[in-house]
Amino acid sequence: MKANAAFSRRGFVASAASAALWPVMARATPANPDVIVIGAGAAGIAAARRVIAGGKTVVVIEAADRIGGRAYTETKSFGVPFDRGCSWLQGPRNGVPHVALARDLGFTLVDHDDAGEALYIGDRPASAAELSNYYRAYDHIESRVYGTGDVSAASRIDADFAYSATAQTWIGPLDFGVDFADLSTGDMNSYGSYAYNYLVKEGLGTLVAEHAQGLPIRTGVTVREIDWSGQGVRVQTTDGTISAAACIVTVSTGVLASDAIKFTPALPAEKSEAITEVPMGLLTKIALQFDGERFGLNDNDFLTYAVPNVVPAEACFFLTWPAGIDVAVGFVGGEFGWNLSRASEAEAVDFALGEFTNMMGSSARNHFIKGIMTDWATNPLTLGAYAAAKPGRFASRRTLAEPLGDRVFFAGEAVAGRYKALMSGAHLSGDAIAGEVINVLGGPGVCNSCEARADQRQRMLEVLSDE
Ligand SMILES: Cc1cc2nc3c(=O)[nH]c(=O)nc-3n(C[C@H](O)[C@H](O)[C@H](O)COP(=O)(O)OP(=O)(O)OC[C@H]3O[C@@H](n4cnc5c(N)ncnc54)[C@H](O)[C@@H]3O)c2cc1C
Repeated sequence: MKANAAFSRRGFVASAASAALWPVMARATPANPDVIVIGAGAAGIAAARRVIAGGKTVVVIEAADRIGGRAYTETKSFGVPFDRGCSWLQGPRNGVPHVALARDLGFTLVDHDDAGEALYIGDRPASAAELSNYYRAYDHIESRVYGTGDVSAASRIDADFAYSATAQTWIGPLDFGVDFADLSTGDMNSYGSYAYNYLVKEGLGTLVAEHAQGLPIRTGVTVREIDWSGQGVRVQTTDGTISAAACIVTVSTGVLASDAIKFTPALPAEKSEAITEVPMGLLTKIALQFDGERFGLNDNDFLTYAVPNVVPAEACFFLTWPAGIDVAVGFVGGEFGWNLSRASEAEAVDFALGEFTNMMGSSARNHFIKGIMTDWATNPLTLGAYAAAKPGRFASRRTLAEPLGDRVFFAGEAVAGRYKALMSGAHLSGDAIAGEVINVLGGPGVCNSCEARADQRQRMLEVLSDE
């Protein structure tokens, strides 16, 4: 996902420093805790930390054999940190500790707010006038979409506005994970702005995993069923059943829709409907490693090709040499992304290399080393990249966030209000929902009717608000 230089999903800067919560003391894994958190992504990590800070016990159950979920840095592919999932650290100043944590840990943050734009018309760089027309297309889209309620973004746009098709590809498939026709203007208009926008040289996934240090997390254990009949919850896993007063479910709407987790009693009809109305969009990365040749392209630039009035139906645009590595990261998304994900990795890499050499010339192949494609579309623990409301169904995000009774709560990027789809939003929602759970559970040190609870509730509503 990128924050496009011209399309403004940011602007006003939140104030006040974040309240960092690390480190927690290393915790034993209680057999039957107060709270079970399902999923050790950014939302689950934040939720677990908040539960512990509230004086309650917690266990995090994670099906994968690693921590971080869609925040995932690996070094196996290219010998240097590569983010297969989120890579831009973006979000509000308040309540998100990752920037401060990165600085504490000595990570390298690459400011990407004014990212360079390498626009190609066929195999030549665009002129200054062409580039400025390209930027105008973003302004056009923004002005036509702003304040439109909740309709398909495509229904608002003049089809023949120069470069609009190219801008639509960045905003639809590559930013929101859905084709522009399937993009809800409710989703578009409800974004909060970013106070920062960094690439993380050591990997955003590494940073998110660092934030989980000391937490009681059981990896490689899959939740099969949540029984919320009667008091509390009984969570059946591949490694036994755990009871708790409440659980926080942070899995993606793709996983919820797949019925991999059975709910007993079954989910209310409106909740099931909301899951299908906020399905997963897809962003797939096809990363190409070269031998150090830069082809005249700068580090951290967006590389885009355009034909002024043509919709690139099968577009792959790039981020070149992020944080200085010898990799051009290609992005495909939306319907085309789903289709390509069904092809073999070799076919996908070949396609992306073809798109790259169309711009850089066929001799670029002489410098190519290897390529990989990410598998978020088919990974059963995600089944997509991030949630996107169907046009007209934006309000279903609220239904998604509703708890079941006072014992099954939902957190994660899909219910992260103004920071939906983002890692920082996932963190904020996990933190806020866990605060609500602590209040509901009450007990020593927790006031059920006092001002602190009202404050916490207010904070949660602000974080999760989409207005
Ligand atoms: C390709 C890509 C690029 C992205 N780019 C950006 C970006 O640049 N910036 C940004 O801010 N965001 C980006 N995002 C989005 C960001 O990664 C997510 O919004 C965020 O990481 C989601 O966190 P989460 O905790 O809500 O969910 P997850 O990280 O998915 O955590 C849920 C966890 O639940 C686990 N789980 C699933 N099923 C079960 C089960 N049955 N039992 C137990 N555990 C289970 C999963 O393994 C997973 O670890 C990107 C995402 C992708 C895929």
